[in-house]
Amino acid sequence: MKAVVIRNGTDRQYVTVADLPVPIPTGRDDVLIRVLSVGLDGTDREIVRDRYGVLPEGAEQMVIGHELLGVIEQAGPESGLTRGELATALVRRPCGDAACAACRHGQQDYCQSGAYTERGIRGADGFLSEYVVEQARYVVPIPAVCAPYGVLVEPQSIVEKVCSQIAIVQQRVKWEPRTALITGSGPLGILTALTCRTMGLDTHVWSRSGDDSVNASLIRRCGAFYHEAKDDGGTALPDTQPPGAEDRHFTSGLQQFAESQDIRPDIIWECSGHTPLAFESIQLLNPNGVLAILGVTSGSRRLHIPCDLLNQEMVLKNKCIIGSVNASRADFVTGIRRLQEMERDFPGLLDSMMTDRLAMAQVPELDFSSVAVKAVVDLAGSARQAYKAGDEPI
Ligand SMILES: [Zn+2]
Repeated sequence: MKAVVIRNGTDRQYVTVADLPVPIPTGRDDVLIRVLSVGLDGTDREIVRDRYGVLPEGAEQMVIGHELLGVIEQAGPESGLTRGELATALVRRPCGDAACAACRHGQQDYCQSGAYTERGIRGADGFLSEYVVEQARYVVPIPAVCAPYGVLVEPQSIVEKVCSQIAIVQQRVKWEPRTALITGSGPLGILTALTCRTMGLDTHVWSRSGDDSVNASLIRRCGAFYHEAKDDGGTALPDTQPPGAEDRHFTSGLQQFAESQDIRPDIIWECSGHTPLAFESIQLLNPNGVLAILGVTSGSRRLHIPCDLLNQEMVLKNKCIIGSVNASRADFVTGIRRLQEMERDFPGLLDSMMTDRLAMAQVPELDFSSVAVKAVVDLAGSARQAYKAGDEPI
């Protein structure tokens, strides 16, 4: 079968299409999944462009891809799953450290040891191949009606994990959130905006994409407000800058913008990975508000921050910061439900988000900067054609 792999080269890793044997289910709870499509995100960009993948120990290559939509071809007798069902799969696998309470209790998205593996990212083959074998405990069935957008379940699960954490934290107070601010308008920012709109929140997205970009138009289509960031600040110091007098106070323009528009968010979602925004946005939060940081950056920049002011904001106004990575099965299941709500409320919007449909052979040379919003690799023709809404599984 064909698969996209990252492979050890003589001086650096490289990405290529390889011929691999079709994996064979061995356990009674194993399933064989025929892959329909695989979404690509910022992590894949780093793997393909920056050779970021961590290969399994002793392996020379690793299949990439972690946003799966497939159809179950064979289901083991103890899998509880059925041939013909659509499915996706969790990404992270637990560590083997007996001291890691989170992994021992099936919460590997909260792994404490850091020794977890992630399919297609870190130490385990991913899903960008024609077939995948997976244990049923990591497989999440998807209703056939979700076929056109089922490949978005994994990224949506990231948003859902934050929603569930906010709900837990905010049990501390009678809370009626009205306004959400999202920084960043990539696929995660768009899914977050859609999520906030399905929750009935006034939703503002602040991002560097142009006012006339596809991202901006998708955001407006769901009734959110799009605001183009004219000034990205540029005040974060470069990696090479020594600490000291050259450190500057940060200002990205976000604060001035929000104050001029009288936007006072109860929830801020940092989805851009532009680190200074997280610190600056703390001051914008309403009392008892939550800042959730989803965007990640692999840099090592430094920033001069008004720490006393931030201390006062956090303590005197009960503000909370949540960092969040990966997701659990429950988040996948909620994500499936939420995507259906989005499709009901904003028909076709999810489909419009998947702007770049690719074949496997295009992935090694893919220029991620040319992707309008979201790239999805279709295997064996379009998954959208294979499964039209309402079809019975084949
Ligand atoms: Zn662990």
